[in-house]
Order: sequence, then structure tokens, then C-alpha cells
Amino acid sequence: MLQEIQLRVLPQVAADSDRLREYIADEKGIAMSALKGVRILKRSVDARQRTIYVNMKVRLYINELPTDDAYVHTEYPDVSDKPQVVVVGAGPGGLFAALRLIELGLRPIVLERGKDVHERKKDLAAISRTQQVDGESNYCFGEGGAGAYSDGKLYTRSKKRGNTEKILNVFCQHGASTAILADAHPHIGTDRLPQVIEAMRNTIIKSGGEVHFQTKMTRLIIGHSPWSIDHSSADEVIGVMAEEIISGQCPAANEKEFFGPVILATGHSARDVYRYLNEAKVEIEPKGIAVGVRLEHPSQLIDQIQYHRKEGRGQWLPAAEYSFVTQVDGRGVYSFCMCPGGFVIPAATGPEQVVVNGMSPANRGTQWSNSGMVVEIRPEDVEGDDALCVMRYQENLERLCWQQANMKQTAPSQRMADFVNNRLSADLPRSSYAPGLVASPLHFWMPGSVASRLQQGFRQFGRQAHGFLTNEAILIGVETRTSSPVRIIRNAETLQHVRLQGLFPCGEGAGYAGGIVSAGVDGERCAEMCAAWMDKKR
Ligand SMILES: Cc1cc2nc3c(=O)[nH]c(=O)nc-3n(C[C@H](O)[C@H](O)[C@H](O)COP(=O)(O)OP(=O)(O)OC[C@H]3O[C@@H](n4cnc5c(N)ncnc54)[C@H](O)[C@@H]3O)c2cc1C
Repeated sequence: MLQEIQLRVLPQVAADSDRLREYIADEKGIAMSALKGVRILKRSVDARQRTIYVNMKVRLYINELPTDDAYVHTEYPDVSDKPQVVVVGAGPGGLFAALRLIELGLRPIVLERGKDVHERKKDLAAISRTQQVDGESNYCFGEGGAGAYSDGKLYTRSKKRGNTEKILNVFCQHGASTAILADAHPHIGTDRLPQVIEAMRNTIIKSGGEVHFQTKMTRLIIGHSPWSIDHSSADEVIGVMAEEIISGQCPAANEKEFFGPVILATGHSARDVYRYLNEAKVEIEPKGIAVGVRLEHPSQLIDQIQYHRKEGRGQWLPAAEYSFVTQVDGRGVYSFCMCPGGFVIPAATGPEQVVVNGMSPANRGTQWSNSGMVVEIRPEDVEGDDALCVMRYQENLERLCWQQANMKQTAPSQRMADFVNNRLSADLPRSSYAPGLVASPLHFWMPGSVASRLQQGFRQFGRQAHGFLTNEAILIGVETRTSSPVRIIRNAETLQHVRLQGLFPCGEGAGYAGGIVSAGVDGERCAEMCAAWMDKKR
């Protein structure tokens, strides 16, 4: 017999499967020998009161063994001889689009400018050693996209846009822990993500798709559709030109064409793609972003604040998270992409930029907890009104930061209370940021509208969480890659570009997603719309 029940237990009970089984047997009056299995369906920590509980929904297997799968399995048929679709970008948007195309009987050809997820790791390590960023292989570019070396947080606010459960199940099928299906705030961790991404690539290849690394789309191939069902002369994207990136060789010598409808999932950092689209008069528009800093506290302090106790998380609780949001002078100021027990990392994608972001391992076990602390920027807040005006603002701020960083990846930093009180920090504490820090007056050189809103926001957050506003925490500049500064305009129903048929702008870079799961959901939807469009044409 199966039975589903709700539980409220102490963390030490929730963390130990034997203790949990004993607790349930005792509580429900079930003999231990009859309780054959317990599956956790939902789990969340409730730290609002002094005694911390874990709320759970569990399925009990009474007098029967668990035989049902822990996740929903998706079938991927052989598509070797099926019509092909070009997917540009192997981030979550592109990878989930490719997998969904296979399910729908189409053959994905995935083009990725960066290296495979393991080779890429060497280029990430080199940033701290050489202070140089490889423009094609970095924390944003390469297999797995911007999400590969991240915290791997898998929660999204955009549940209404698509099937987020499906995305989590596909991750489990490719090796992620099934705990992500139960946890209220699931995450995979940067140490586990590469294997999951590699397994997704292997599914694409085994099913007859192709994945080309170090292959950068340079332009769209636009033709007049010979098959247009309404016989109109609407322009249609029929493929892309791409260059193979082989060091030491002239890129033009390695140009290749790939034909098929195009799912364009190039992420928020492909500025060359935005520039090309703008020059080619493909309809795009500026989009608001948020900019600010990474804030890093000792993780023990965050645990003490959030769990309201001196011993912090103790043995049984996860590293504590936080989330702050307020409005200052008509703009949102909020924490973003919190990484408990994580690292601050250099996320630049080219020369003359310093940009930071955060990631955490699966155990969230480092001595630091960080988050982006950012201020909303709207297109009307920046100079210019063309499609690239917000991107230019973002670029200028990153260049300014690089100048403050002595033109290296050593990031400018200031203690939190010093920042709020307009004081240069005389020294800095140890930090997780591997390329190194340089003490800098961020309150002085960051745009005034950002610095003053952050100062006011921090004062408010300090009042909400006693101990949060402290000189034990540091700001590290600058956080700018929070979302896309450009939207590639598409039809809300068909998800095709507003003018160009056969072009499906997808994921975060297109301006329709933010985060791993929502990019994955958008990838699936673009694949479905592309399949429906191809079906109509046949
Ligand atoms: C350090 C870091 C940590 C993050 N942590 C989290 C987190 O914990 N949880 C979360 O939900 N989100 C996180 N994010 C955000 C998340 O990674 C993105 O929202 C998500 O990856 C967007 O997916 P995407 O597929 O749309 O774009 P991307 O992941 O950006 O993928 C785009 C891909 O396209 C490739 N590409 C670009 N131009 C071309 C071209 N011309 N030709 C071929 N390929 C090209 C790029 O190399 C890249 O691989 C993090 C981001 C960063 C940078």
C-alpha cells in the first residue's frame, strides 16, 4: 500500500534516512518491518521560529517495495535521418531545445563557440593564474553556457511559462540527484553540473544529433522561402554561417554553413551577436537589466543571522540562504543569485572587463556566502535610445571596473559598512575570489544612482537582519550580467522572430528567460514551436 503524508521534523531526523523511518513508524504506528520504503516528495526548512523544523511530504511504501521510478523518464528516439534544426548555443536554452527536438523527431545540430565542459575548466583556472580571459572559453561561454559553473540553483518564478518539473526530471535522467525534485530550493552544484551536461550531450549525439564545439555563428543565412505556405515573400532564415575557432588560424579560412531553421540561444553575453543583429537590421530592442556588486559574508555569520542562533547551521542544516528586496527612489534594489557556501568568480567574456558572479559546490561548504546586490536599470536611465544603449552602459561600467582593478582581473573591493559610510577600506578580509582583490572606493566611482541606492538598500537590509550590515562583509565589483541588455523581438504565440520566419530567438539572450530552469523551459517551447512550424510547411 502507498500512503502520502505531511511531516514536520527536527533537522537531525530529516537528514538521516534510518531515523526518519523510525520516526514515521513510531508516529504512524506502523511496524518497521512493514515500512518497506520512504520517498521524500517535498522538503523545506522552516527557520522562522527559534526551533527549526523541516517540513516534508513523504510517500510511504507499506508492505510493498518501491518499484516506481524516482523521476519521469523521457524517451529519445533515433533521429539520424530526420530533418535538421540548427541550435546555436549549448547553454540550458540550447541543450533543452536540442533534447526536445529529438523527442519531436527532429535532428538538432548544436553549434557552440566555446569548448566542451571539461576542456573549458582549464581556461577558467587560467584566469586567476594569468589574469587573462579567453574570449571564447570562460565562465559564460562554453558547453553548458553560463549555468555550467554556477550554483546550479534550479528554482524559477516563471512556472506559468512552461513545464519546470520536466526540466528537473531531465536533469535527474542525466545524473542529477533526485533530491532536486523534493527540495523547495533545489540546486545541483558546480562540481556535479559538468557530468550532467556531458550526459545531455551524449544523449543528443547517441540519438543522431550533432554537437560542434569551437564553432561560432557569425551570421544568419536569410533567403526567400520557396515553401512559404501563404506564398508571401517573407524573409526566412534557412541556416547560419559559422567559423571554426582553431588557434593560430585565420577564422575566415574555417567558415562553414549549416542549414535548417535556427533556434538562437546565444545567452546574455554574446555582444558580437547583438552587434551583428543590429547591423543586419534584425529587429531587436533595449531591455532593462540590474547592476551592482557581489556581496560576500562569512557563511557562518549568514547562518547565525538566518537561523537565529549562535551555533549557526550546526551539523544538520544546509548553508543558509537569504533574499532581500526593496525600492529606493523608484528603482528595485535586491539580492540576486545567492550562493550560500560558495565562491565569487570572474565572469568577464573579453578584454578590458571586470565582471563578477557567484557559484557553489553541491555541499555549499565554503567559508563564504555571496549574492549579487543590484539596482534595477531601465532603458530610460541610460544614455541613448538605440537597441544597444543598455549594453553600452553595461560595457562602460565593466571597463571602468577593469580600470579600477589596475587593468587585471583583481577586482575592486570595499568593506560593506565602509561603503555605506563613504570610507575607503584600509584593509580587506580573506575572500573566495581567486584572482585577488584591490581595495577601492566603490562608493566614489560607481554610478551615483547605483551607489546611493545600494547604500540605502544596505541600511534597510541591515535593519531587517541584525548583523547583516557589517565590515566583516565585502563588496566586490561589479555585477552586471544579471540578464540580457537586449531583447530579440519575437511573436508571443509562434515564438518566431517578428519578421524572420525560421528564426526562434531563445532563452536568456533573447530576453525571454532568466536562470537555468526558465532558459530550459524556453528552449523546450522554442523546439515545439519550431517543430509545429516545420510541420505546417511540409
Ligand atoms: C557564474 C554564473 C552563475 C549562475 N548561477 C545560476 C544559478 O545558480 N541558477 C540559475 O538559474 N542561473 C544561474 N546563472 C544564470 C544562468 O546561467 C543563465 O540564466 C542561463 O545559463 C541562460 O541560459 P541560456 O541557454 O539562455 O544562455 P547561456 O547559458 O548564456 O548559453 C549561451 C551559449 O551560447 C554560446 N554562444 C554565444 N554566442 C555564440 C555564437 N555566436 N555561436 C555559437 N555559440 C554561441 C555561449 O558560448 C553559451 O554557451 C548564473 C550565471 C553565471 C554567469
